Amino acid sequence: MSKTFQPQGQQQSVPPTTPSNDEHWMRVALVAARAASELGEVPVGACVVSSDGTLLAVAGNRTRINCDPTAHAEIVALREAARQVGNYRLTETIVYSTIEPCAMCAGALVQARVKRLAYGAPDERAGAVASVFRVCDASSLNHCLELTPGVLEEECRNMMQAFFRARRKARIKE
Ligand code: ZN
Repeated sequence: MSKTFQPQGQQQSVPPTTPSNDEHWMRVALVAARAASELGEVPVGACVVSSDGTLLAVAGNRTRINCDPTAHAEIVALREAARQVGNYRLTETIVYSTIEPCAMCAGALVQARVKRLAYGAPDERAGAVASVFRVCDASSLNHCLELTPGVLEEECRNMMQAFFRARRKARIKE
């Protein structure tokens, strides 16, 4: 992969976070999602990677454990990444999320000036990247993210569906 600057865009990608490595980083997010589900959390995982390929933060949902409605995987990971780099702007980072972010998380990604978002499965009910709202590339906001949907989509969707299926079953037994 060439590192030469391409005049048209911000495509001076370095190998570790090029789309060809998206599946690797999505697997890191999936591990966090699985760990969250084992704690009874909705299995969403996210990680923040700098464009030179350093993992800055990885997190799963923690809303129940933290008793915090804002403790979605993306928010927890963004907070940790900002602490790691000592900057509330995460301009040279890529965020990987197993599920299309909600309105709160999509807004936080814009606030953090994240460069690119890659996500797994769409969330047709609450997704705020493409499904219900388009927060990450709204022309009225002063920052747009590059978007890469559908990374390991099936694995991400399956994890979510298995969790809710198991929860429904548990409720029927009660
Ligand atoms: Zn969210």
